[in-house]
Amino acid sequence: MTQYEPVIGLEVHAQLLTKTKLFCGCSTAFGSKPNSNVCPVCLGLPGALPVANDEALRLAVRAGIALDLTINQTSIFARKQYFYPDLPKGYQISQYEEPYSSDGHLDVEVEGVKTRIGITRIHMEEDAGKSTHGVGGDSVVDLNRACTPLIEIVSEPDIRSSAEAAAYLRVLRDILVSIGVNDGNLEEGSFRCDANVSIRPVGQEKFGTRAELKNLNSFRFVQRAIDVEIARQTAILDAGGEVVQETRSFDPDTSKTRSLRAKADAHDYRYFPEPDLPPVVISDEMIEEQRAMIGELPRTRKARYMSEFGLSDQAASTLTGHPDQVAFFEGVISTEGTTKIDPKKVANWMLTELQRDIVTERQQIHFPVSPAQLAELIVLVDSDKISGKQAKEVYAGIVKTDTSPSTFVKEHGMEVVSDEGELLAICEEVVAKSEKQVAQYRAGKKGVVGFFVGQVMKATRGQANPKMVNQILTRLLEG
Ligand code: ADP
Ligand code: MG
Ligand code: ZN
Repeated sequence: MTQYEPVIGLEVHAQLLTKTKLFCGCSTAFGSKPNSNVCPVCLGLPGALPVANDEALRLAVRAGIALDLTINQTSIFARKQYFYPDLPKGYQISQYEEPYSSDGHLDVEVEGVKTRIGITRIHMEEDAGKSTHGVGGDSVVDLNRACTPLIEIVSEPDIRSSAEAAAYLRVLRDILVSIGVNDGNLEEGSFRCDANVSIRPVGQEKFGTRAELKNLNSFRFVQRAIDVEIARQTAILDAGGEVVQETRSFDPDTSKTRSLRAKADAHDYRYFPEPDLPPVVISDEMIEEQRAMIGELPRTRKARYMSEFGLSDQAASTLTGHPDQVAFFEGVISTEGTTKIDPKKVANWMLTELQRDIVTERQQIHFPVSPAQLAELIVLVDSDKISGKQAKEVYAGIVKTDTSPSTFVKEHGMEVVSDEGELLAICEEVVAKSEKQVAQYRAGKKGVVGFFVGQVMKATRGQANPKMVNQILTRLLEG
């Protein structure tokens, strides 16, 4: 049987995090009352004129720089004509022949194998509205989303497996979220992906005919849909058939893709330059300003966390994968007024106790304690005020409160007794009461020191500083 190689190219639509829409001043807030954030421009009323949103352009430029694309000095908006109920103007304003950026790449890694995926272009465009079918037997349209700003990121057909596709999407999402361009929310559709999939006999250069998969609203679905599609096309070719170029939809319930429509070609859209908008001009100053906004990208930060702090690959990935994780981690290690905190200890806490209690809401991470609270907790252990075991109790006690760890320790009488005089008195008493064990110790049975430590701990309800108790007891017993 013929062996086939999958060829995959991804088109990602990412909503830019602006307050207002791409060509009008309407709000982009998600979840508003249907058709409440609309105006003559985004409703496509005759005579209404679009004005391009500068902030959208700035965010788009930032994304282009972060993904190593060339930013084109001028670019052109065009009309892409098609009819659909959620597209009131009868065309979508998009960039076509002259996008604002082209020719970048993204490095991904799957099971230790690194691959560079080319990015053909990123262009700006407006979103369409949202149709909902079967509402009381009707189909209804909400135009709140119409005209919200998107960038479309088009990859080269360089991807060769579903795992690579998922890895590409994860890295892409992390970058866009970390630079403040997108909220990374697949469920709400602010980060959407279409996957173009074809197969070809291994060794053949020419690409096969592709199907375009839509409706992939989670990384898991992307991977599954691609695998299912590869299997479907393989079965067709093995049976001597031909794959048709079409748009297919993935149904996660049945794990099947089904045909939606024949795929339109570019000439079907009758593109022409948008007469109501001037060419987009991007200045060198804007490029430099946006380059400065980007800061350290997740991949660079991850490498630095591993080499500078000695974090594991996995720990560094988690802590650099989301800007909120980064902010929290950096917040703890840079807490002022404390001795230097070991970043590894911070990572440990964040990946165990805190990770369990984190709440993620609309892509925002809510931590169970503040960076200052965690910093203080770590310092309490480092300075032997409490034991590591007690630290977990303190943590559990202060979760979701703003009580400081030292206040909690005081209020609960957990403070370790480190007073030399106090400990000496207790140790002397214990030694005086235990003649038999003292004799055993002095006869060379050094292990019996454990008995004394136990007695002291009992007398102090576990709060004696164990290091000091050991030292004092040894001194007394060695006589
Ligand atoms: P459109 O989908 O709008 O027609 P393109 O033709 O430029 O746009 O292709 C879009 C995506 O399809 C790109 O990501 C590209 O890499 C991918 N692609 C093109 N040809 C193939 C193919 N034969 N197999 C898989 N992916 C492909
Ligand atoms: Mg397409
Ligand atoms: Zn509007």
